[in-house]
Amino acid sequence: MTEPLIIELSSPGRCAVSLPKLDVPQAAELPDEWLRDDLALPEVSERDLVSHYVRLSQLNYAVDIGFYPLGSCTMKYNPRINEDTARLEGFAASHPLQPAVLTQGSLELLCRLQDALAALTGLEGVSLQPAAGAQGELAGVLMIRAYHQARGDTARKVMLIPDTAHGTNPASTAMAGYEAVEVASDARGNVDLDDLYSKLGPQVAGIMLTNPSTLGLFEERILEVTAAVHAAGALVYGDGANFNALMGKVRPAELGIDIMHFNLHKTFSTPHGGGGPGSGPVAVRSDLAPFLPGPIAVRDENSYVLHMPKHSIGAIKAFYGQFSILVRAYTYIRMLGAEGLRDAAESAVLAANYLQAKLRGTLPLPYERTCMHECVFEGRIKGAEDVRALDISKRMIDYGIHPPTNYFPLIVPEALMVEPTETESLATLDRFVEIVQSIVAEAHSNPALLREAPHNAPVGRLDEVQAARRLILSWHDKG
Ligand SMILES: *Cc1c(COP(=O)(O)O)cnc(C)c1O
Repeated sequence: MTEPLIIELSSPGRCAVSLPKLDVPQAAELPDEWLRDDLALPEVSERDLVSHYVRLSQLNYAVDIGFYPLGSCTMKYNPRINEDTARLEGFAASHPLQPAVLTQGSLELLCRLQDALAALTGLEGVSLQPAAGAQGELAGVLMIRAYHQARGDTARKVMLIPDTAHGTNPASTAMAGYEAVEVASDARGNVDLDDLYSKLGPQVAGIMLTNPSTLGLFEERILEVTAAVHAAGALVYGDGANFNALMGKVRPAELGIDIMHFNLHKTFSTPHGGGGPGSGPVAVRSDLAPFLPGPIAVRDENSYVLHMPKHSIGAIKAFYGQFSILVRAYTYIRMLGAEGLRDAAESAVLAANYLQAKLRGTLPLPYERTCMHECVFEGRIKGAEDVRALDISKRMIDYGIHPPTNYFPLIVPEALMVEPTETESLATLDRFVEIVQSIVAEAHSNPALLREAPHNAPVGRLDEVQAARRLILSWHDKG
């Protein structure tokens, strides 16, 4: 970056705000002991301040700028009408502590969203409270525990988790006090049934299943998996992060899922990334509804009220969750309607299969199967063995697109997980294919170009671990 840092623009006496004339009596000065003179705050003009923030905003890549095929994250376009409805005054200016008589519209919206999510899953109880997928998982595992405890069954200590699962699954399991036991995948990328059967027993509380899996593959024998888990007295948790492939096509309840979370910020087009806000509602079959986190909006005789389920695991987030995100998700669902949601799922699956077919032969495919809404390649190039998946991804940044997910799922060596979503045009998909082909050609002709990439980004290769662990968030904390 060649532009001066904001602290370098600082000049004593400059000020970026113009306060109105004092129209109240001046308050007494703050006592000396409350004042500090060691705060190195920059003194800049309004104009410098605005350029500082606009410049920072331009360093970010965003889903509104271009292709963002980050597998498992469903980085689809967020329609602007969602923003309009979230800003309607009746929603934006309401307060969760207002009495229900003044917030009937907001509560009705929550009920309607719950109904829509129940209809899409076949799971009748819904709580909108969890703030993210991971928190929905925690709520789900706590409900599994509450269910077994309510039956007086306290011997179950184990949660089964396939080896393709997202890292949040074992983390939620551990937080809820269970032991995570891994289940292997077979050669087709499905849960290995023999391994599953050998691990089922009276010690198992449940299984956390992601369908389609993070390999982008439909769990072909899911009915056998869920039947075996139920026969062992355990419950099936569905990680719904990949629901974009299924919505409107199949109801997870019919596959044997008992509890599932949604990622509204993935499947239902609400803002996502940069740490939030996120929303991860949970849905459960009707006999588990008394355990849901709450309060939940319900229809009373002639009004909407907040209700705490009878055996609730408790509140997992303040009030009823991320309200403005819920408004956005409801808007998305109503704008598309049942048919539109089904179209979105079908187009997402078609787009991923198109990329998989076009790039077959360019990058190795670990599983030769029709994929769902994402496809996983190996970032390995024959004849350029020292080039890694990470180098391919970093080089994509130079071409102006966001890289796919790297090194996940863990069972695929050098994984590159590509999720195009339904909102990208055929032209964009073709451009992506060309970019990958160019990068593979460069790997042969000039591998250093990949290994040292990115060349045109605001920053070059970062120490990925330190960049995540030691975020430097302000101009004076440079190390
Ligand atoms: C994103 C994701 C999660 C976690 O969801 P968050 O909303 O990020 O907490 C869990 N499982 C899978 C498969 C995911 O892709």
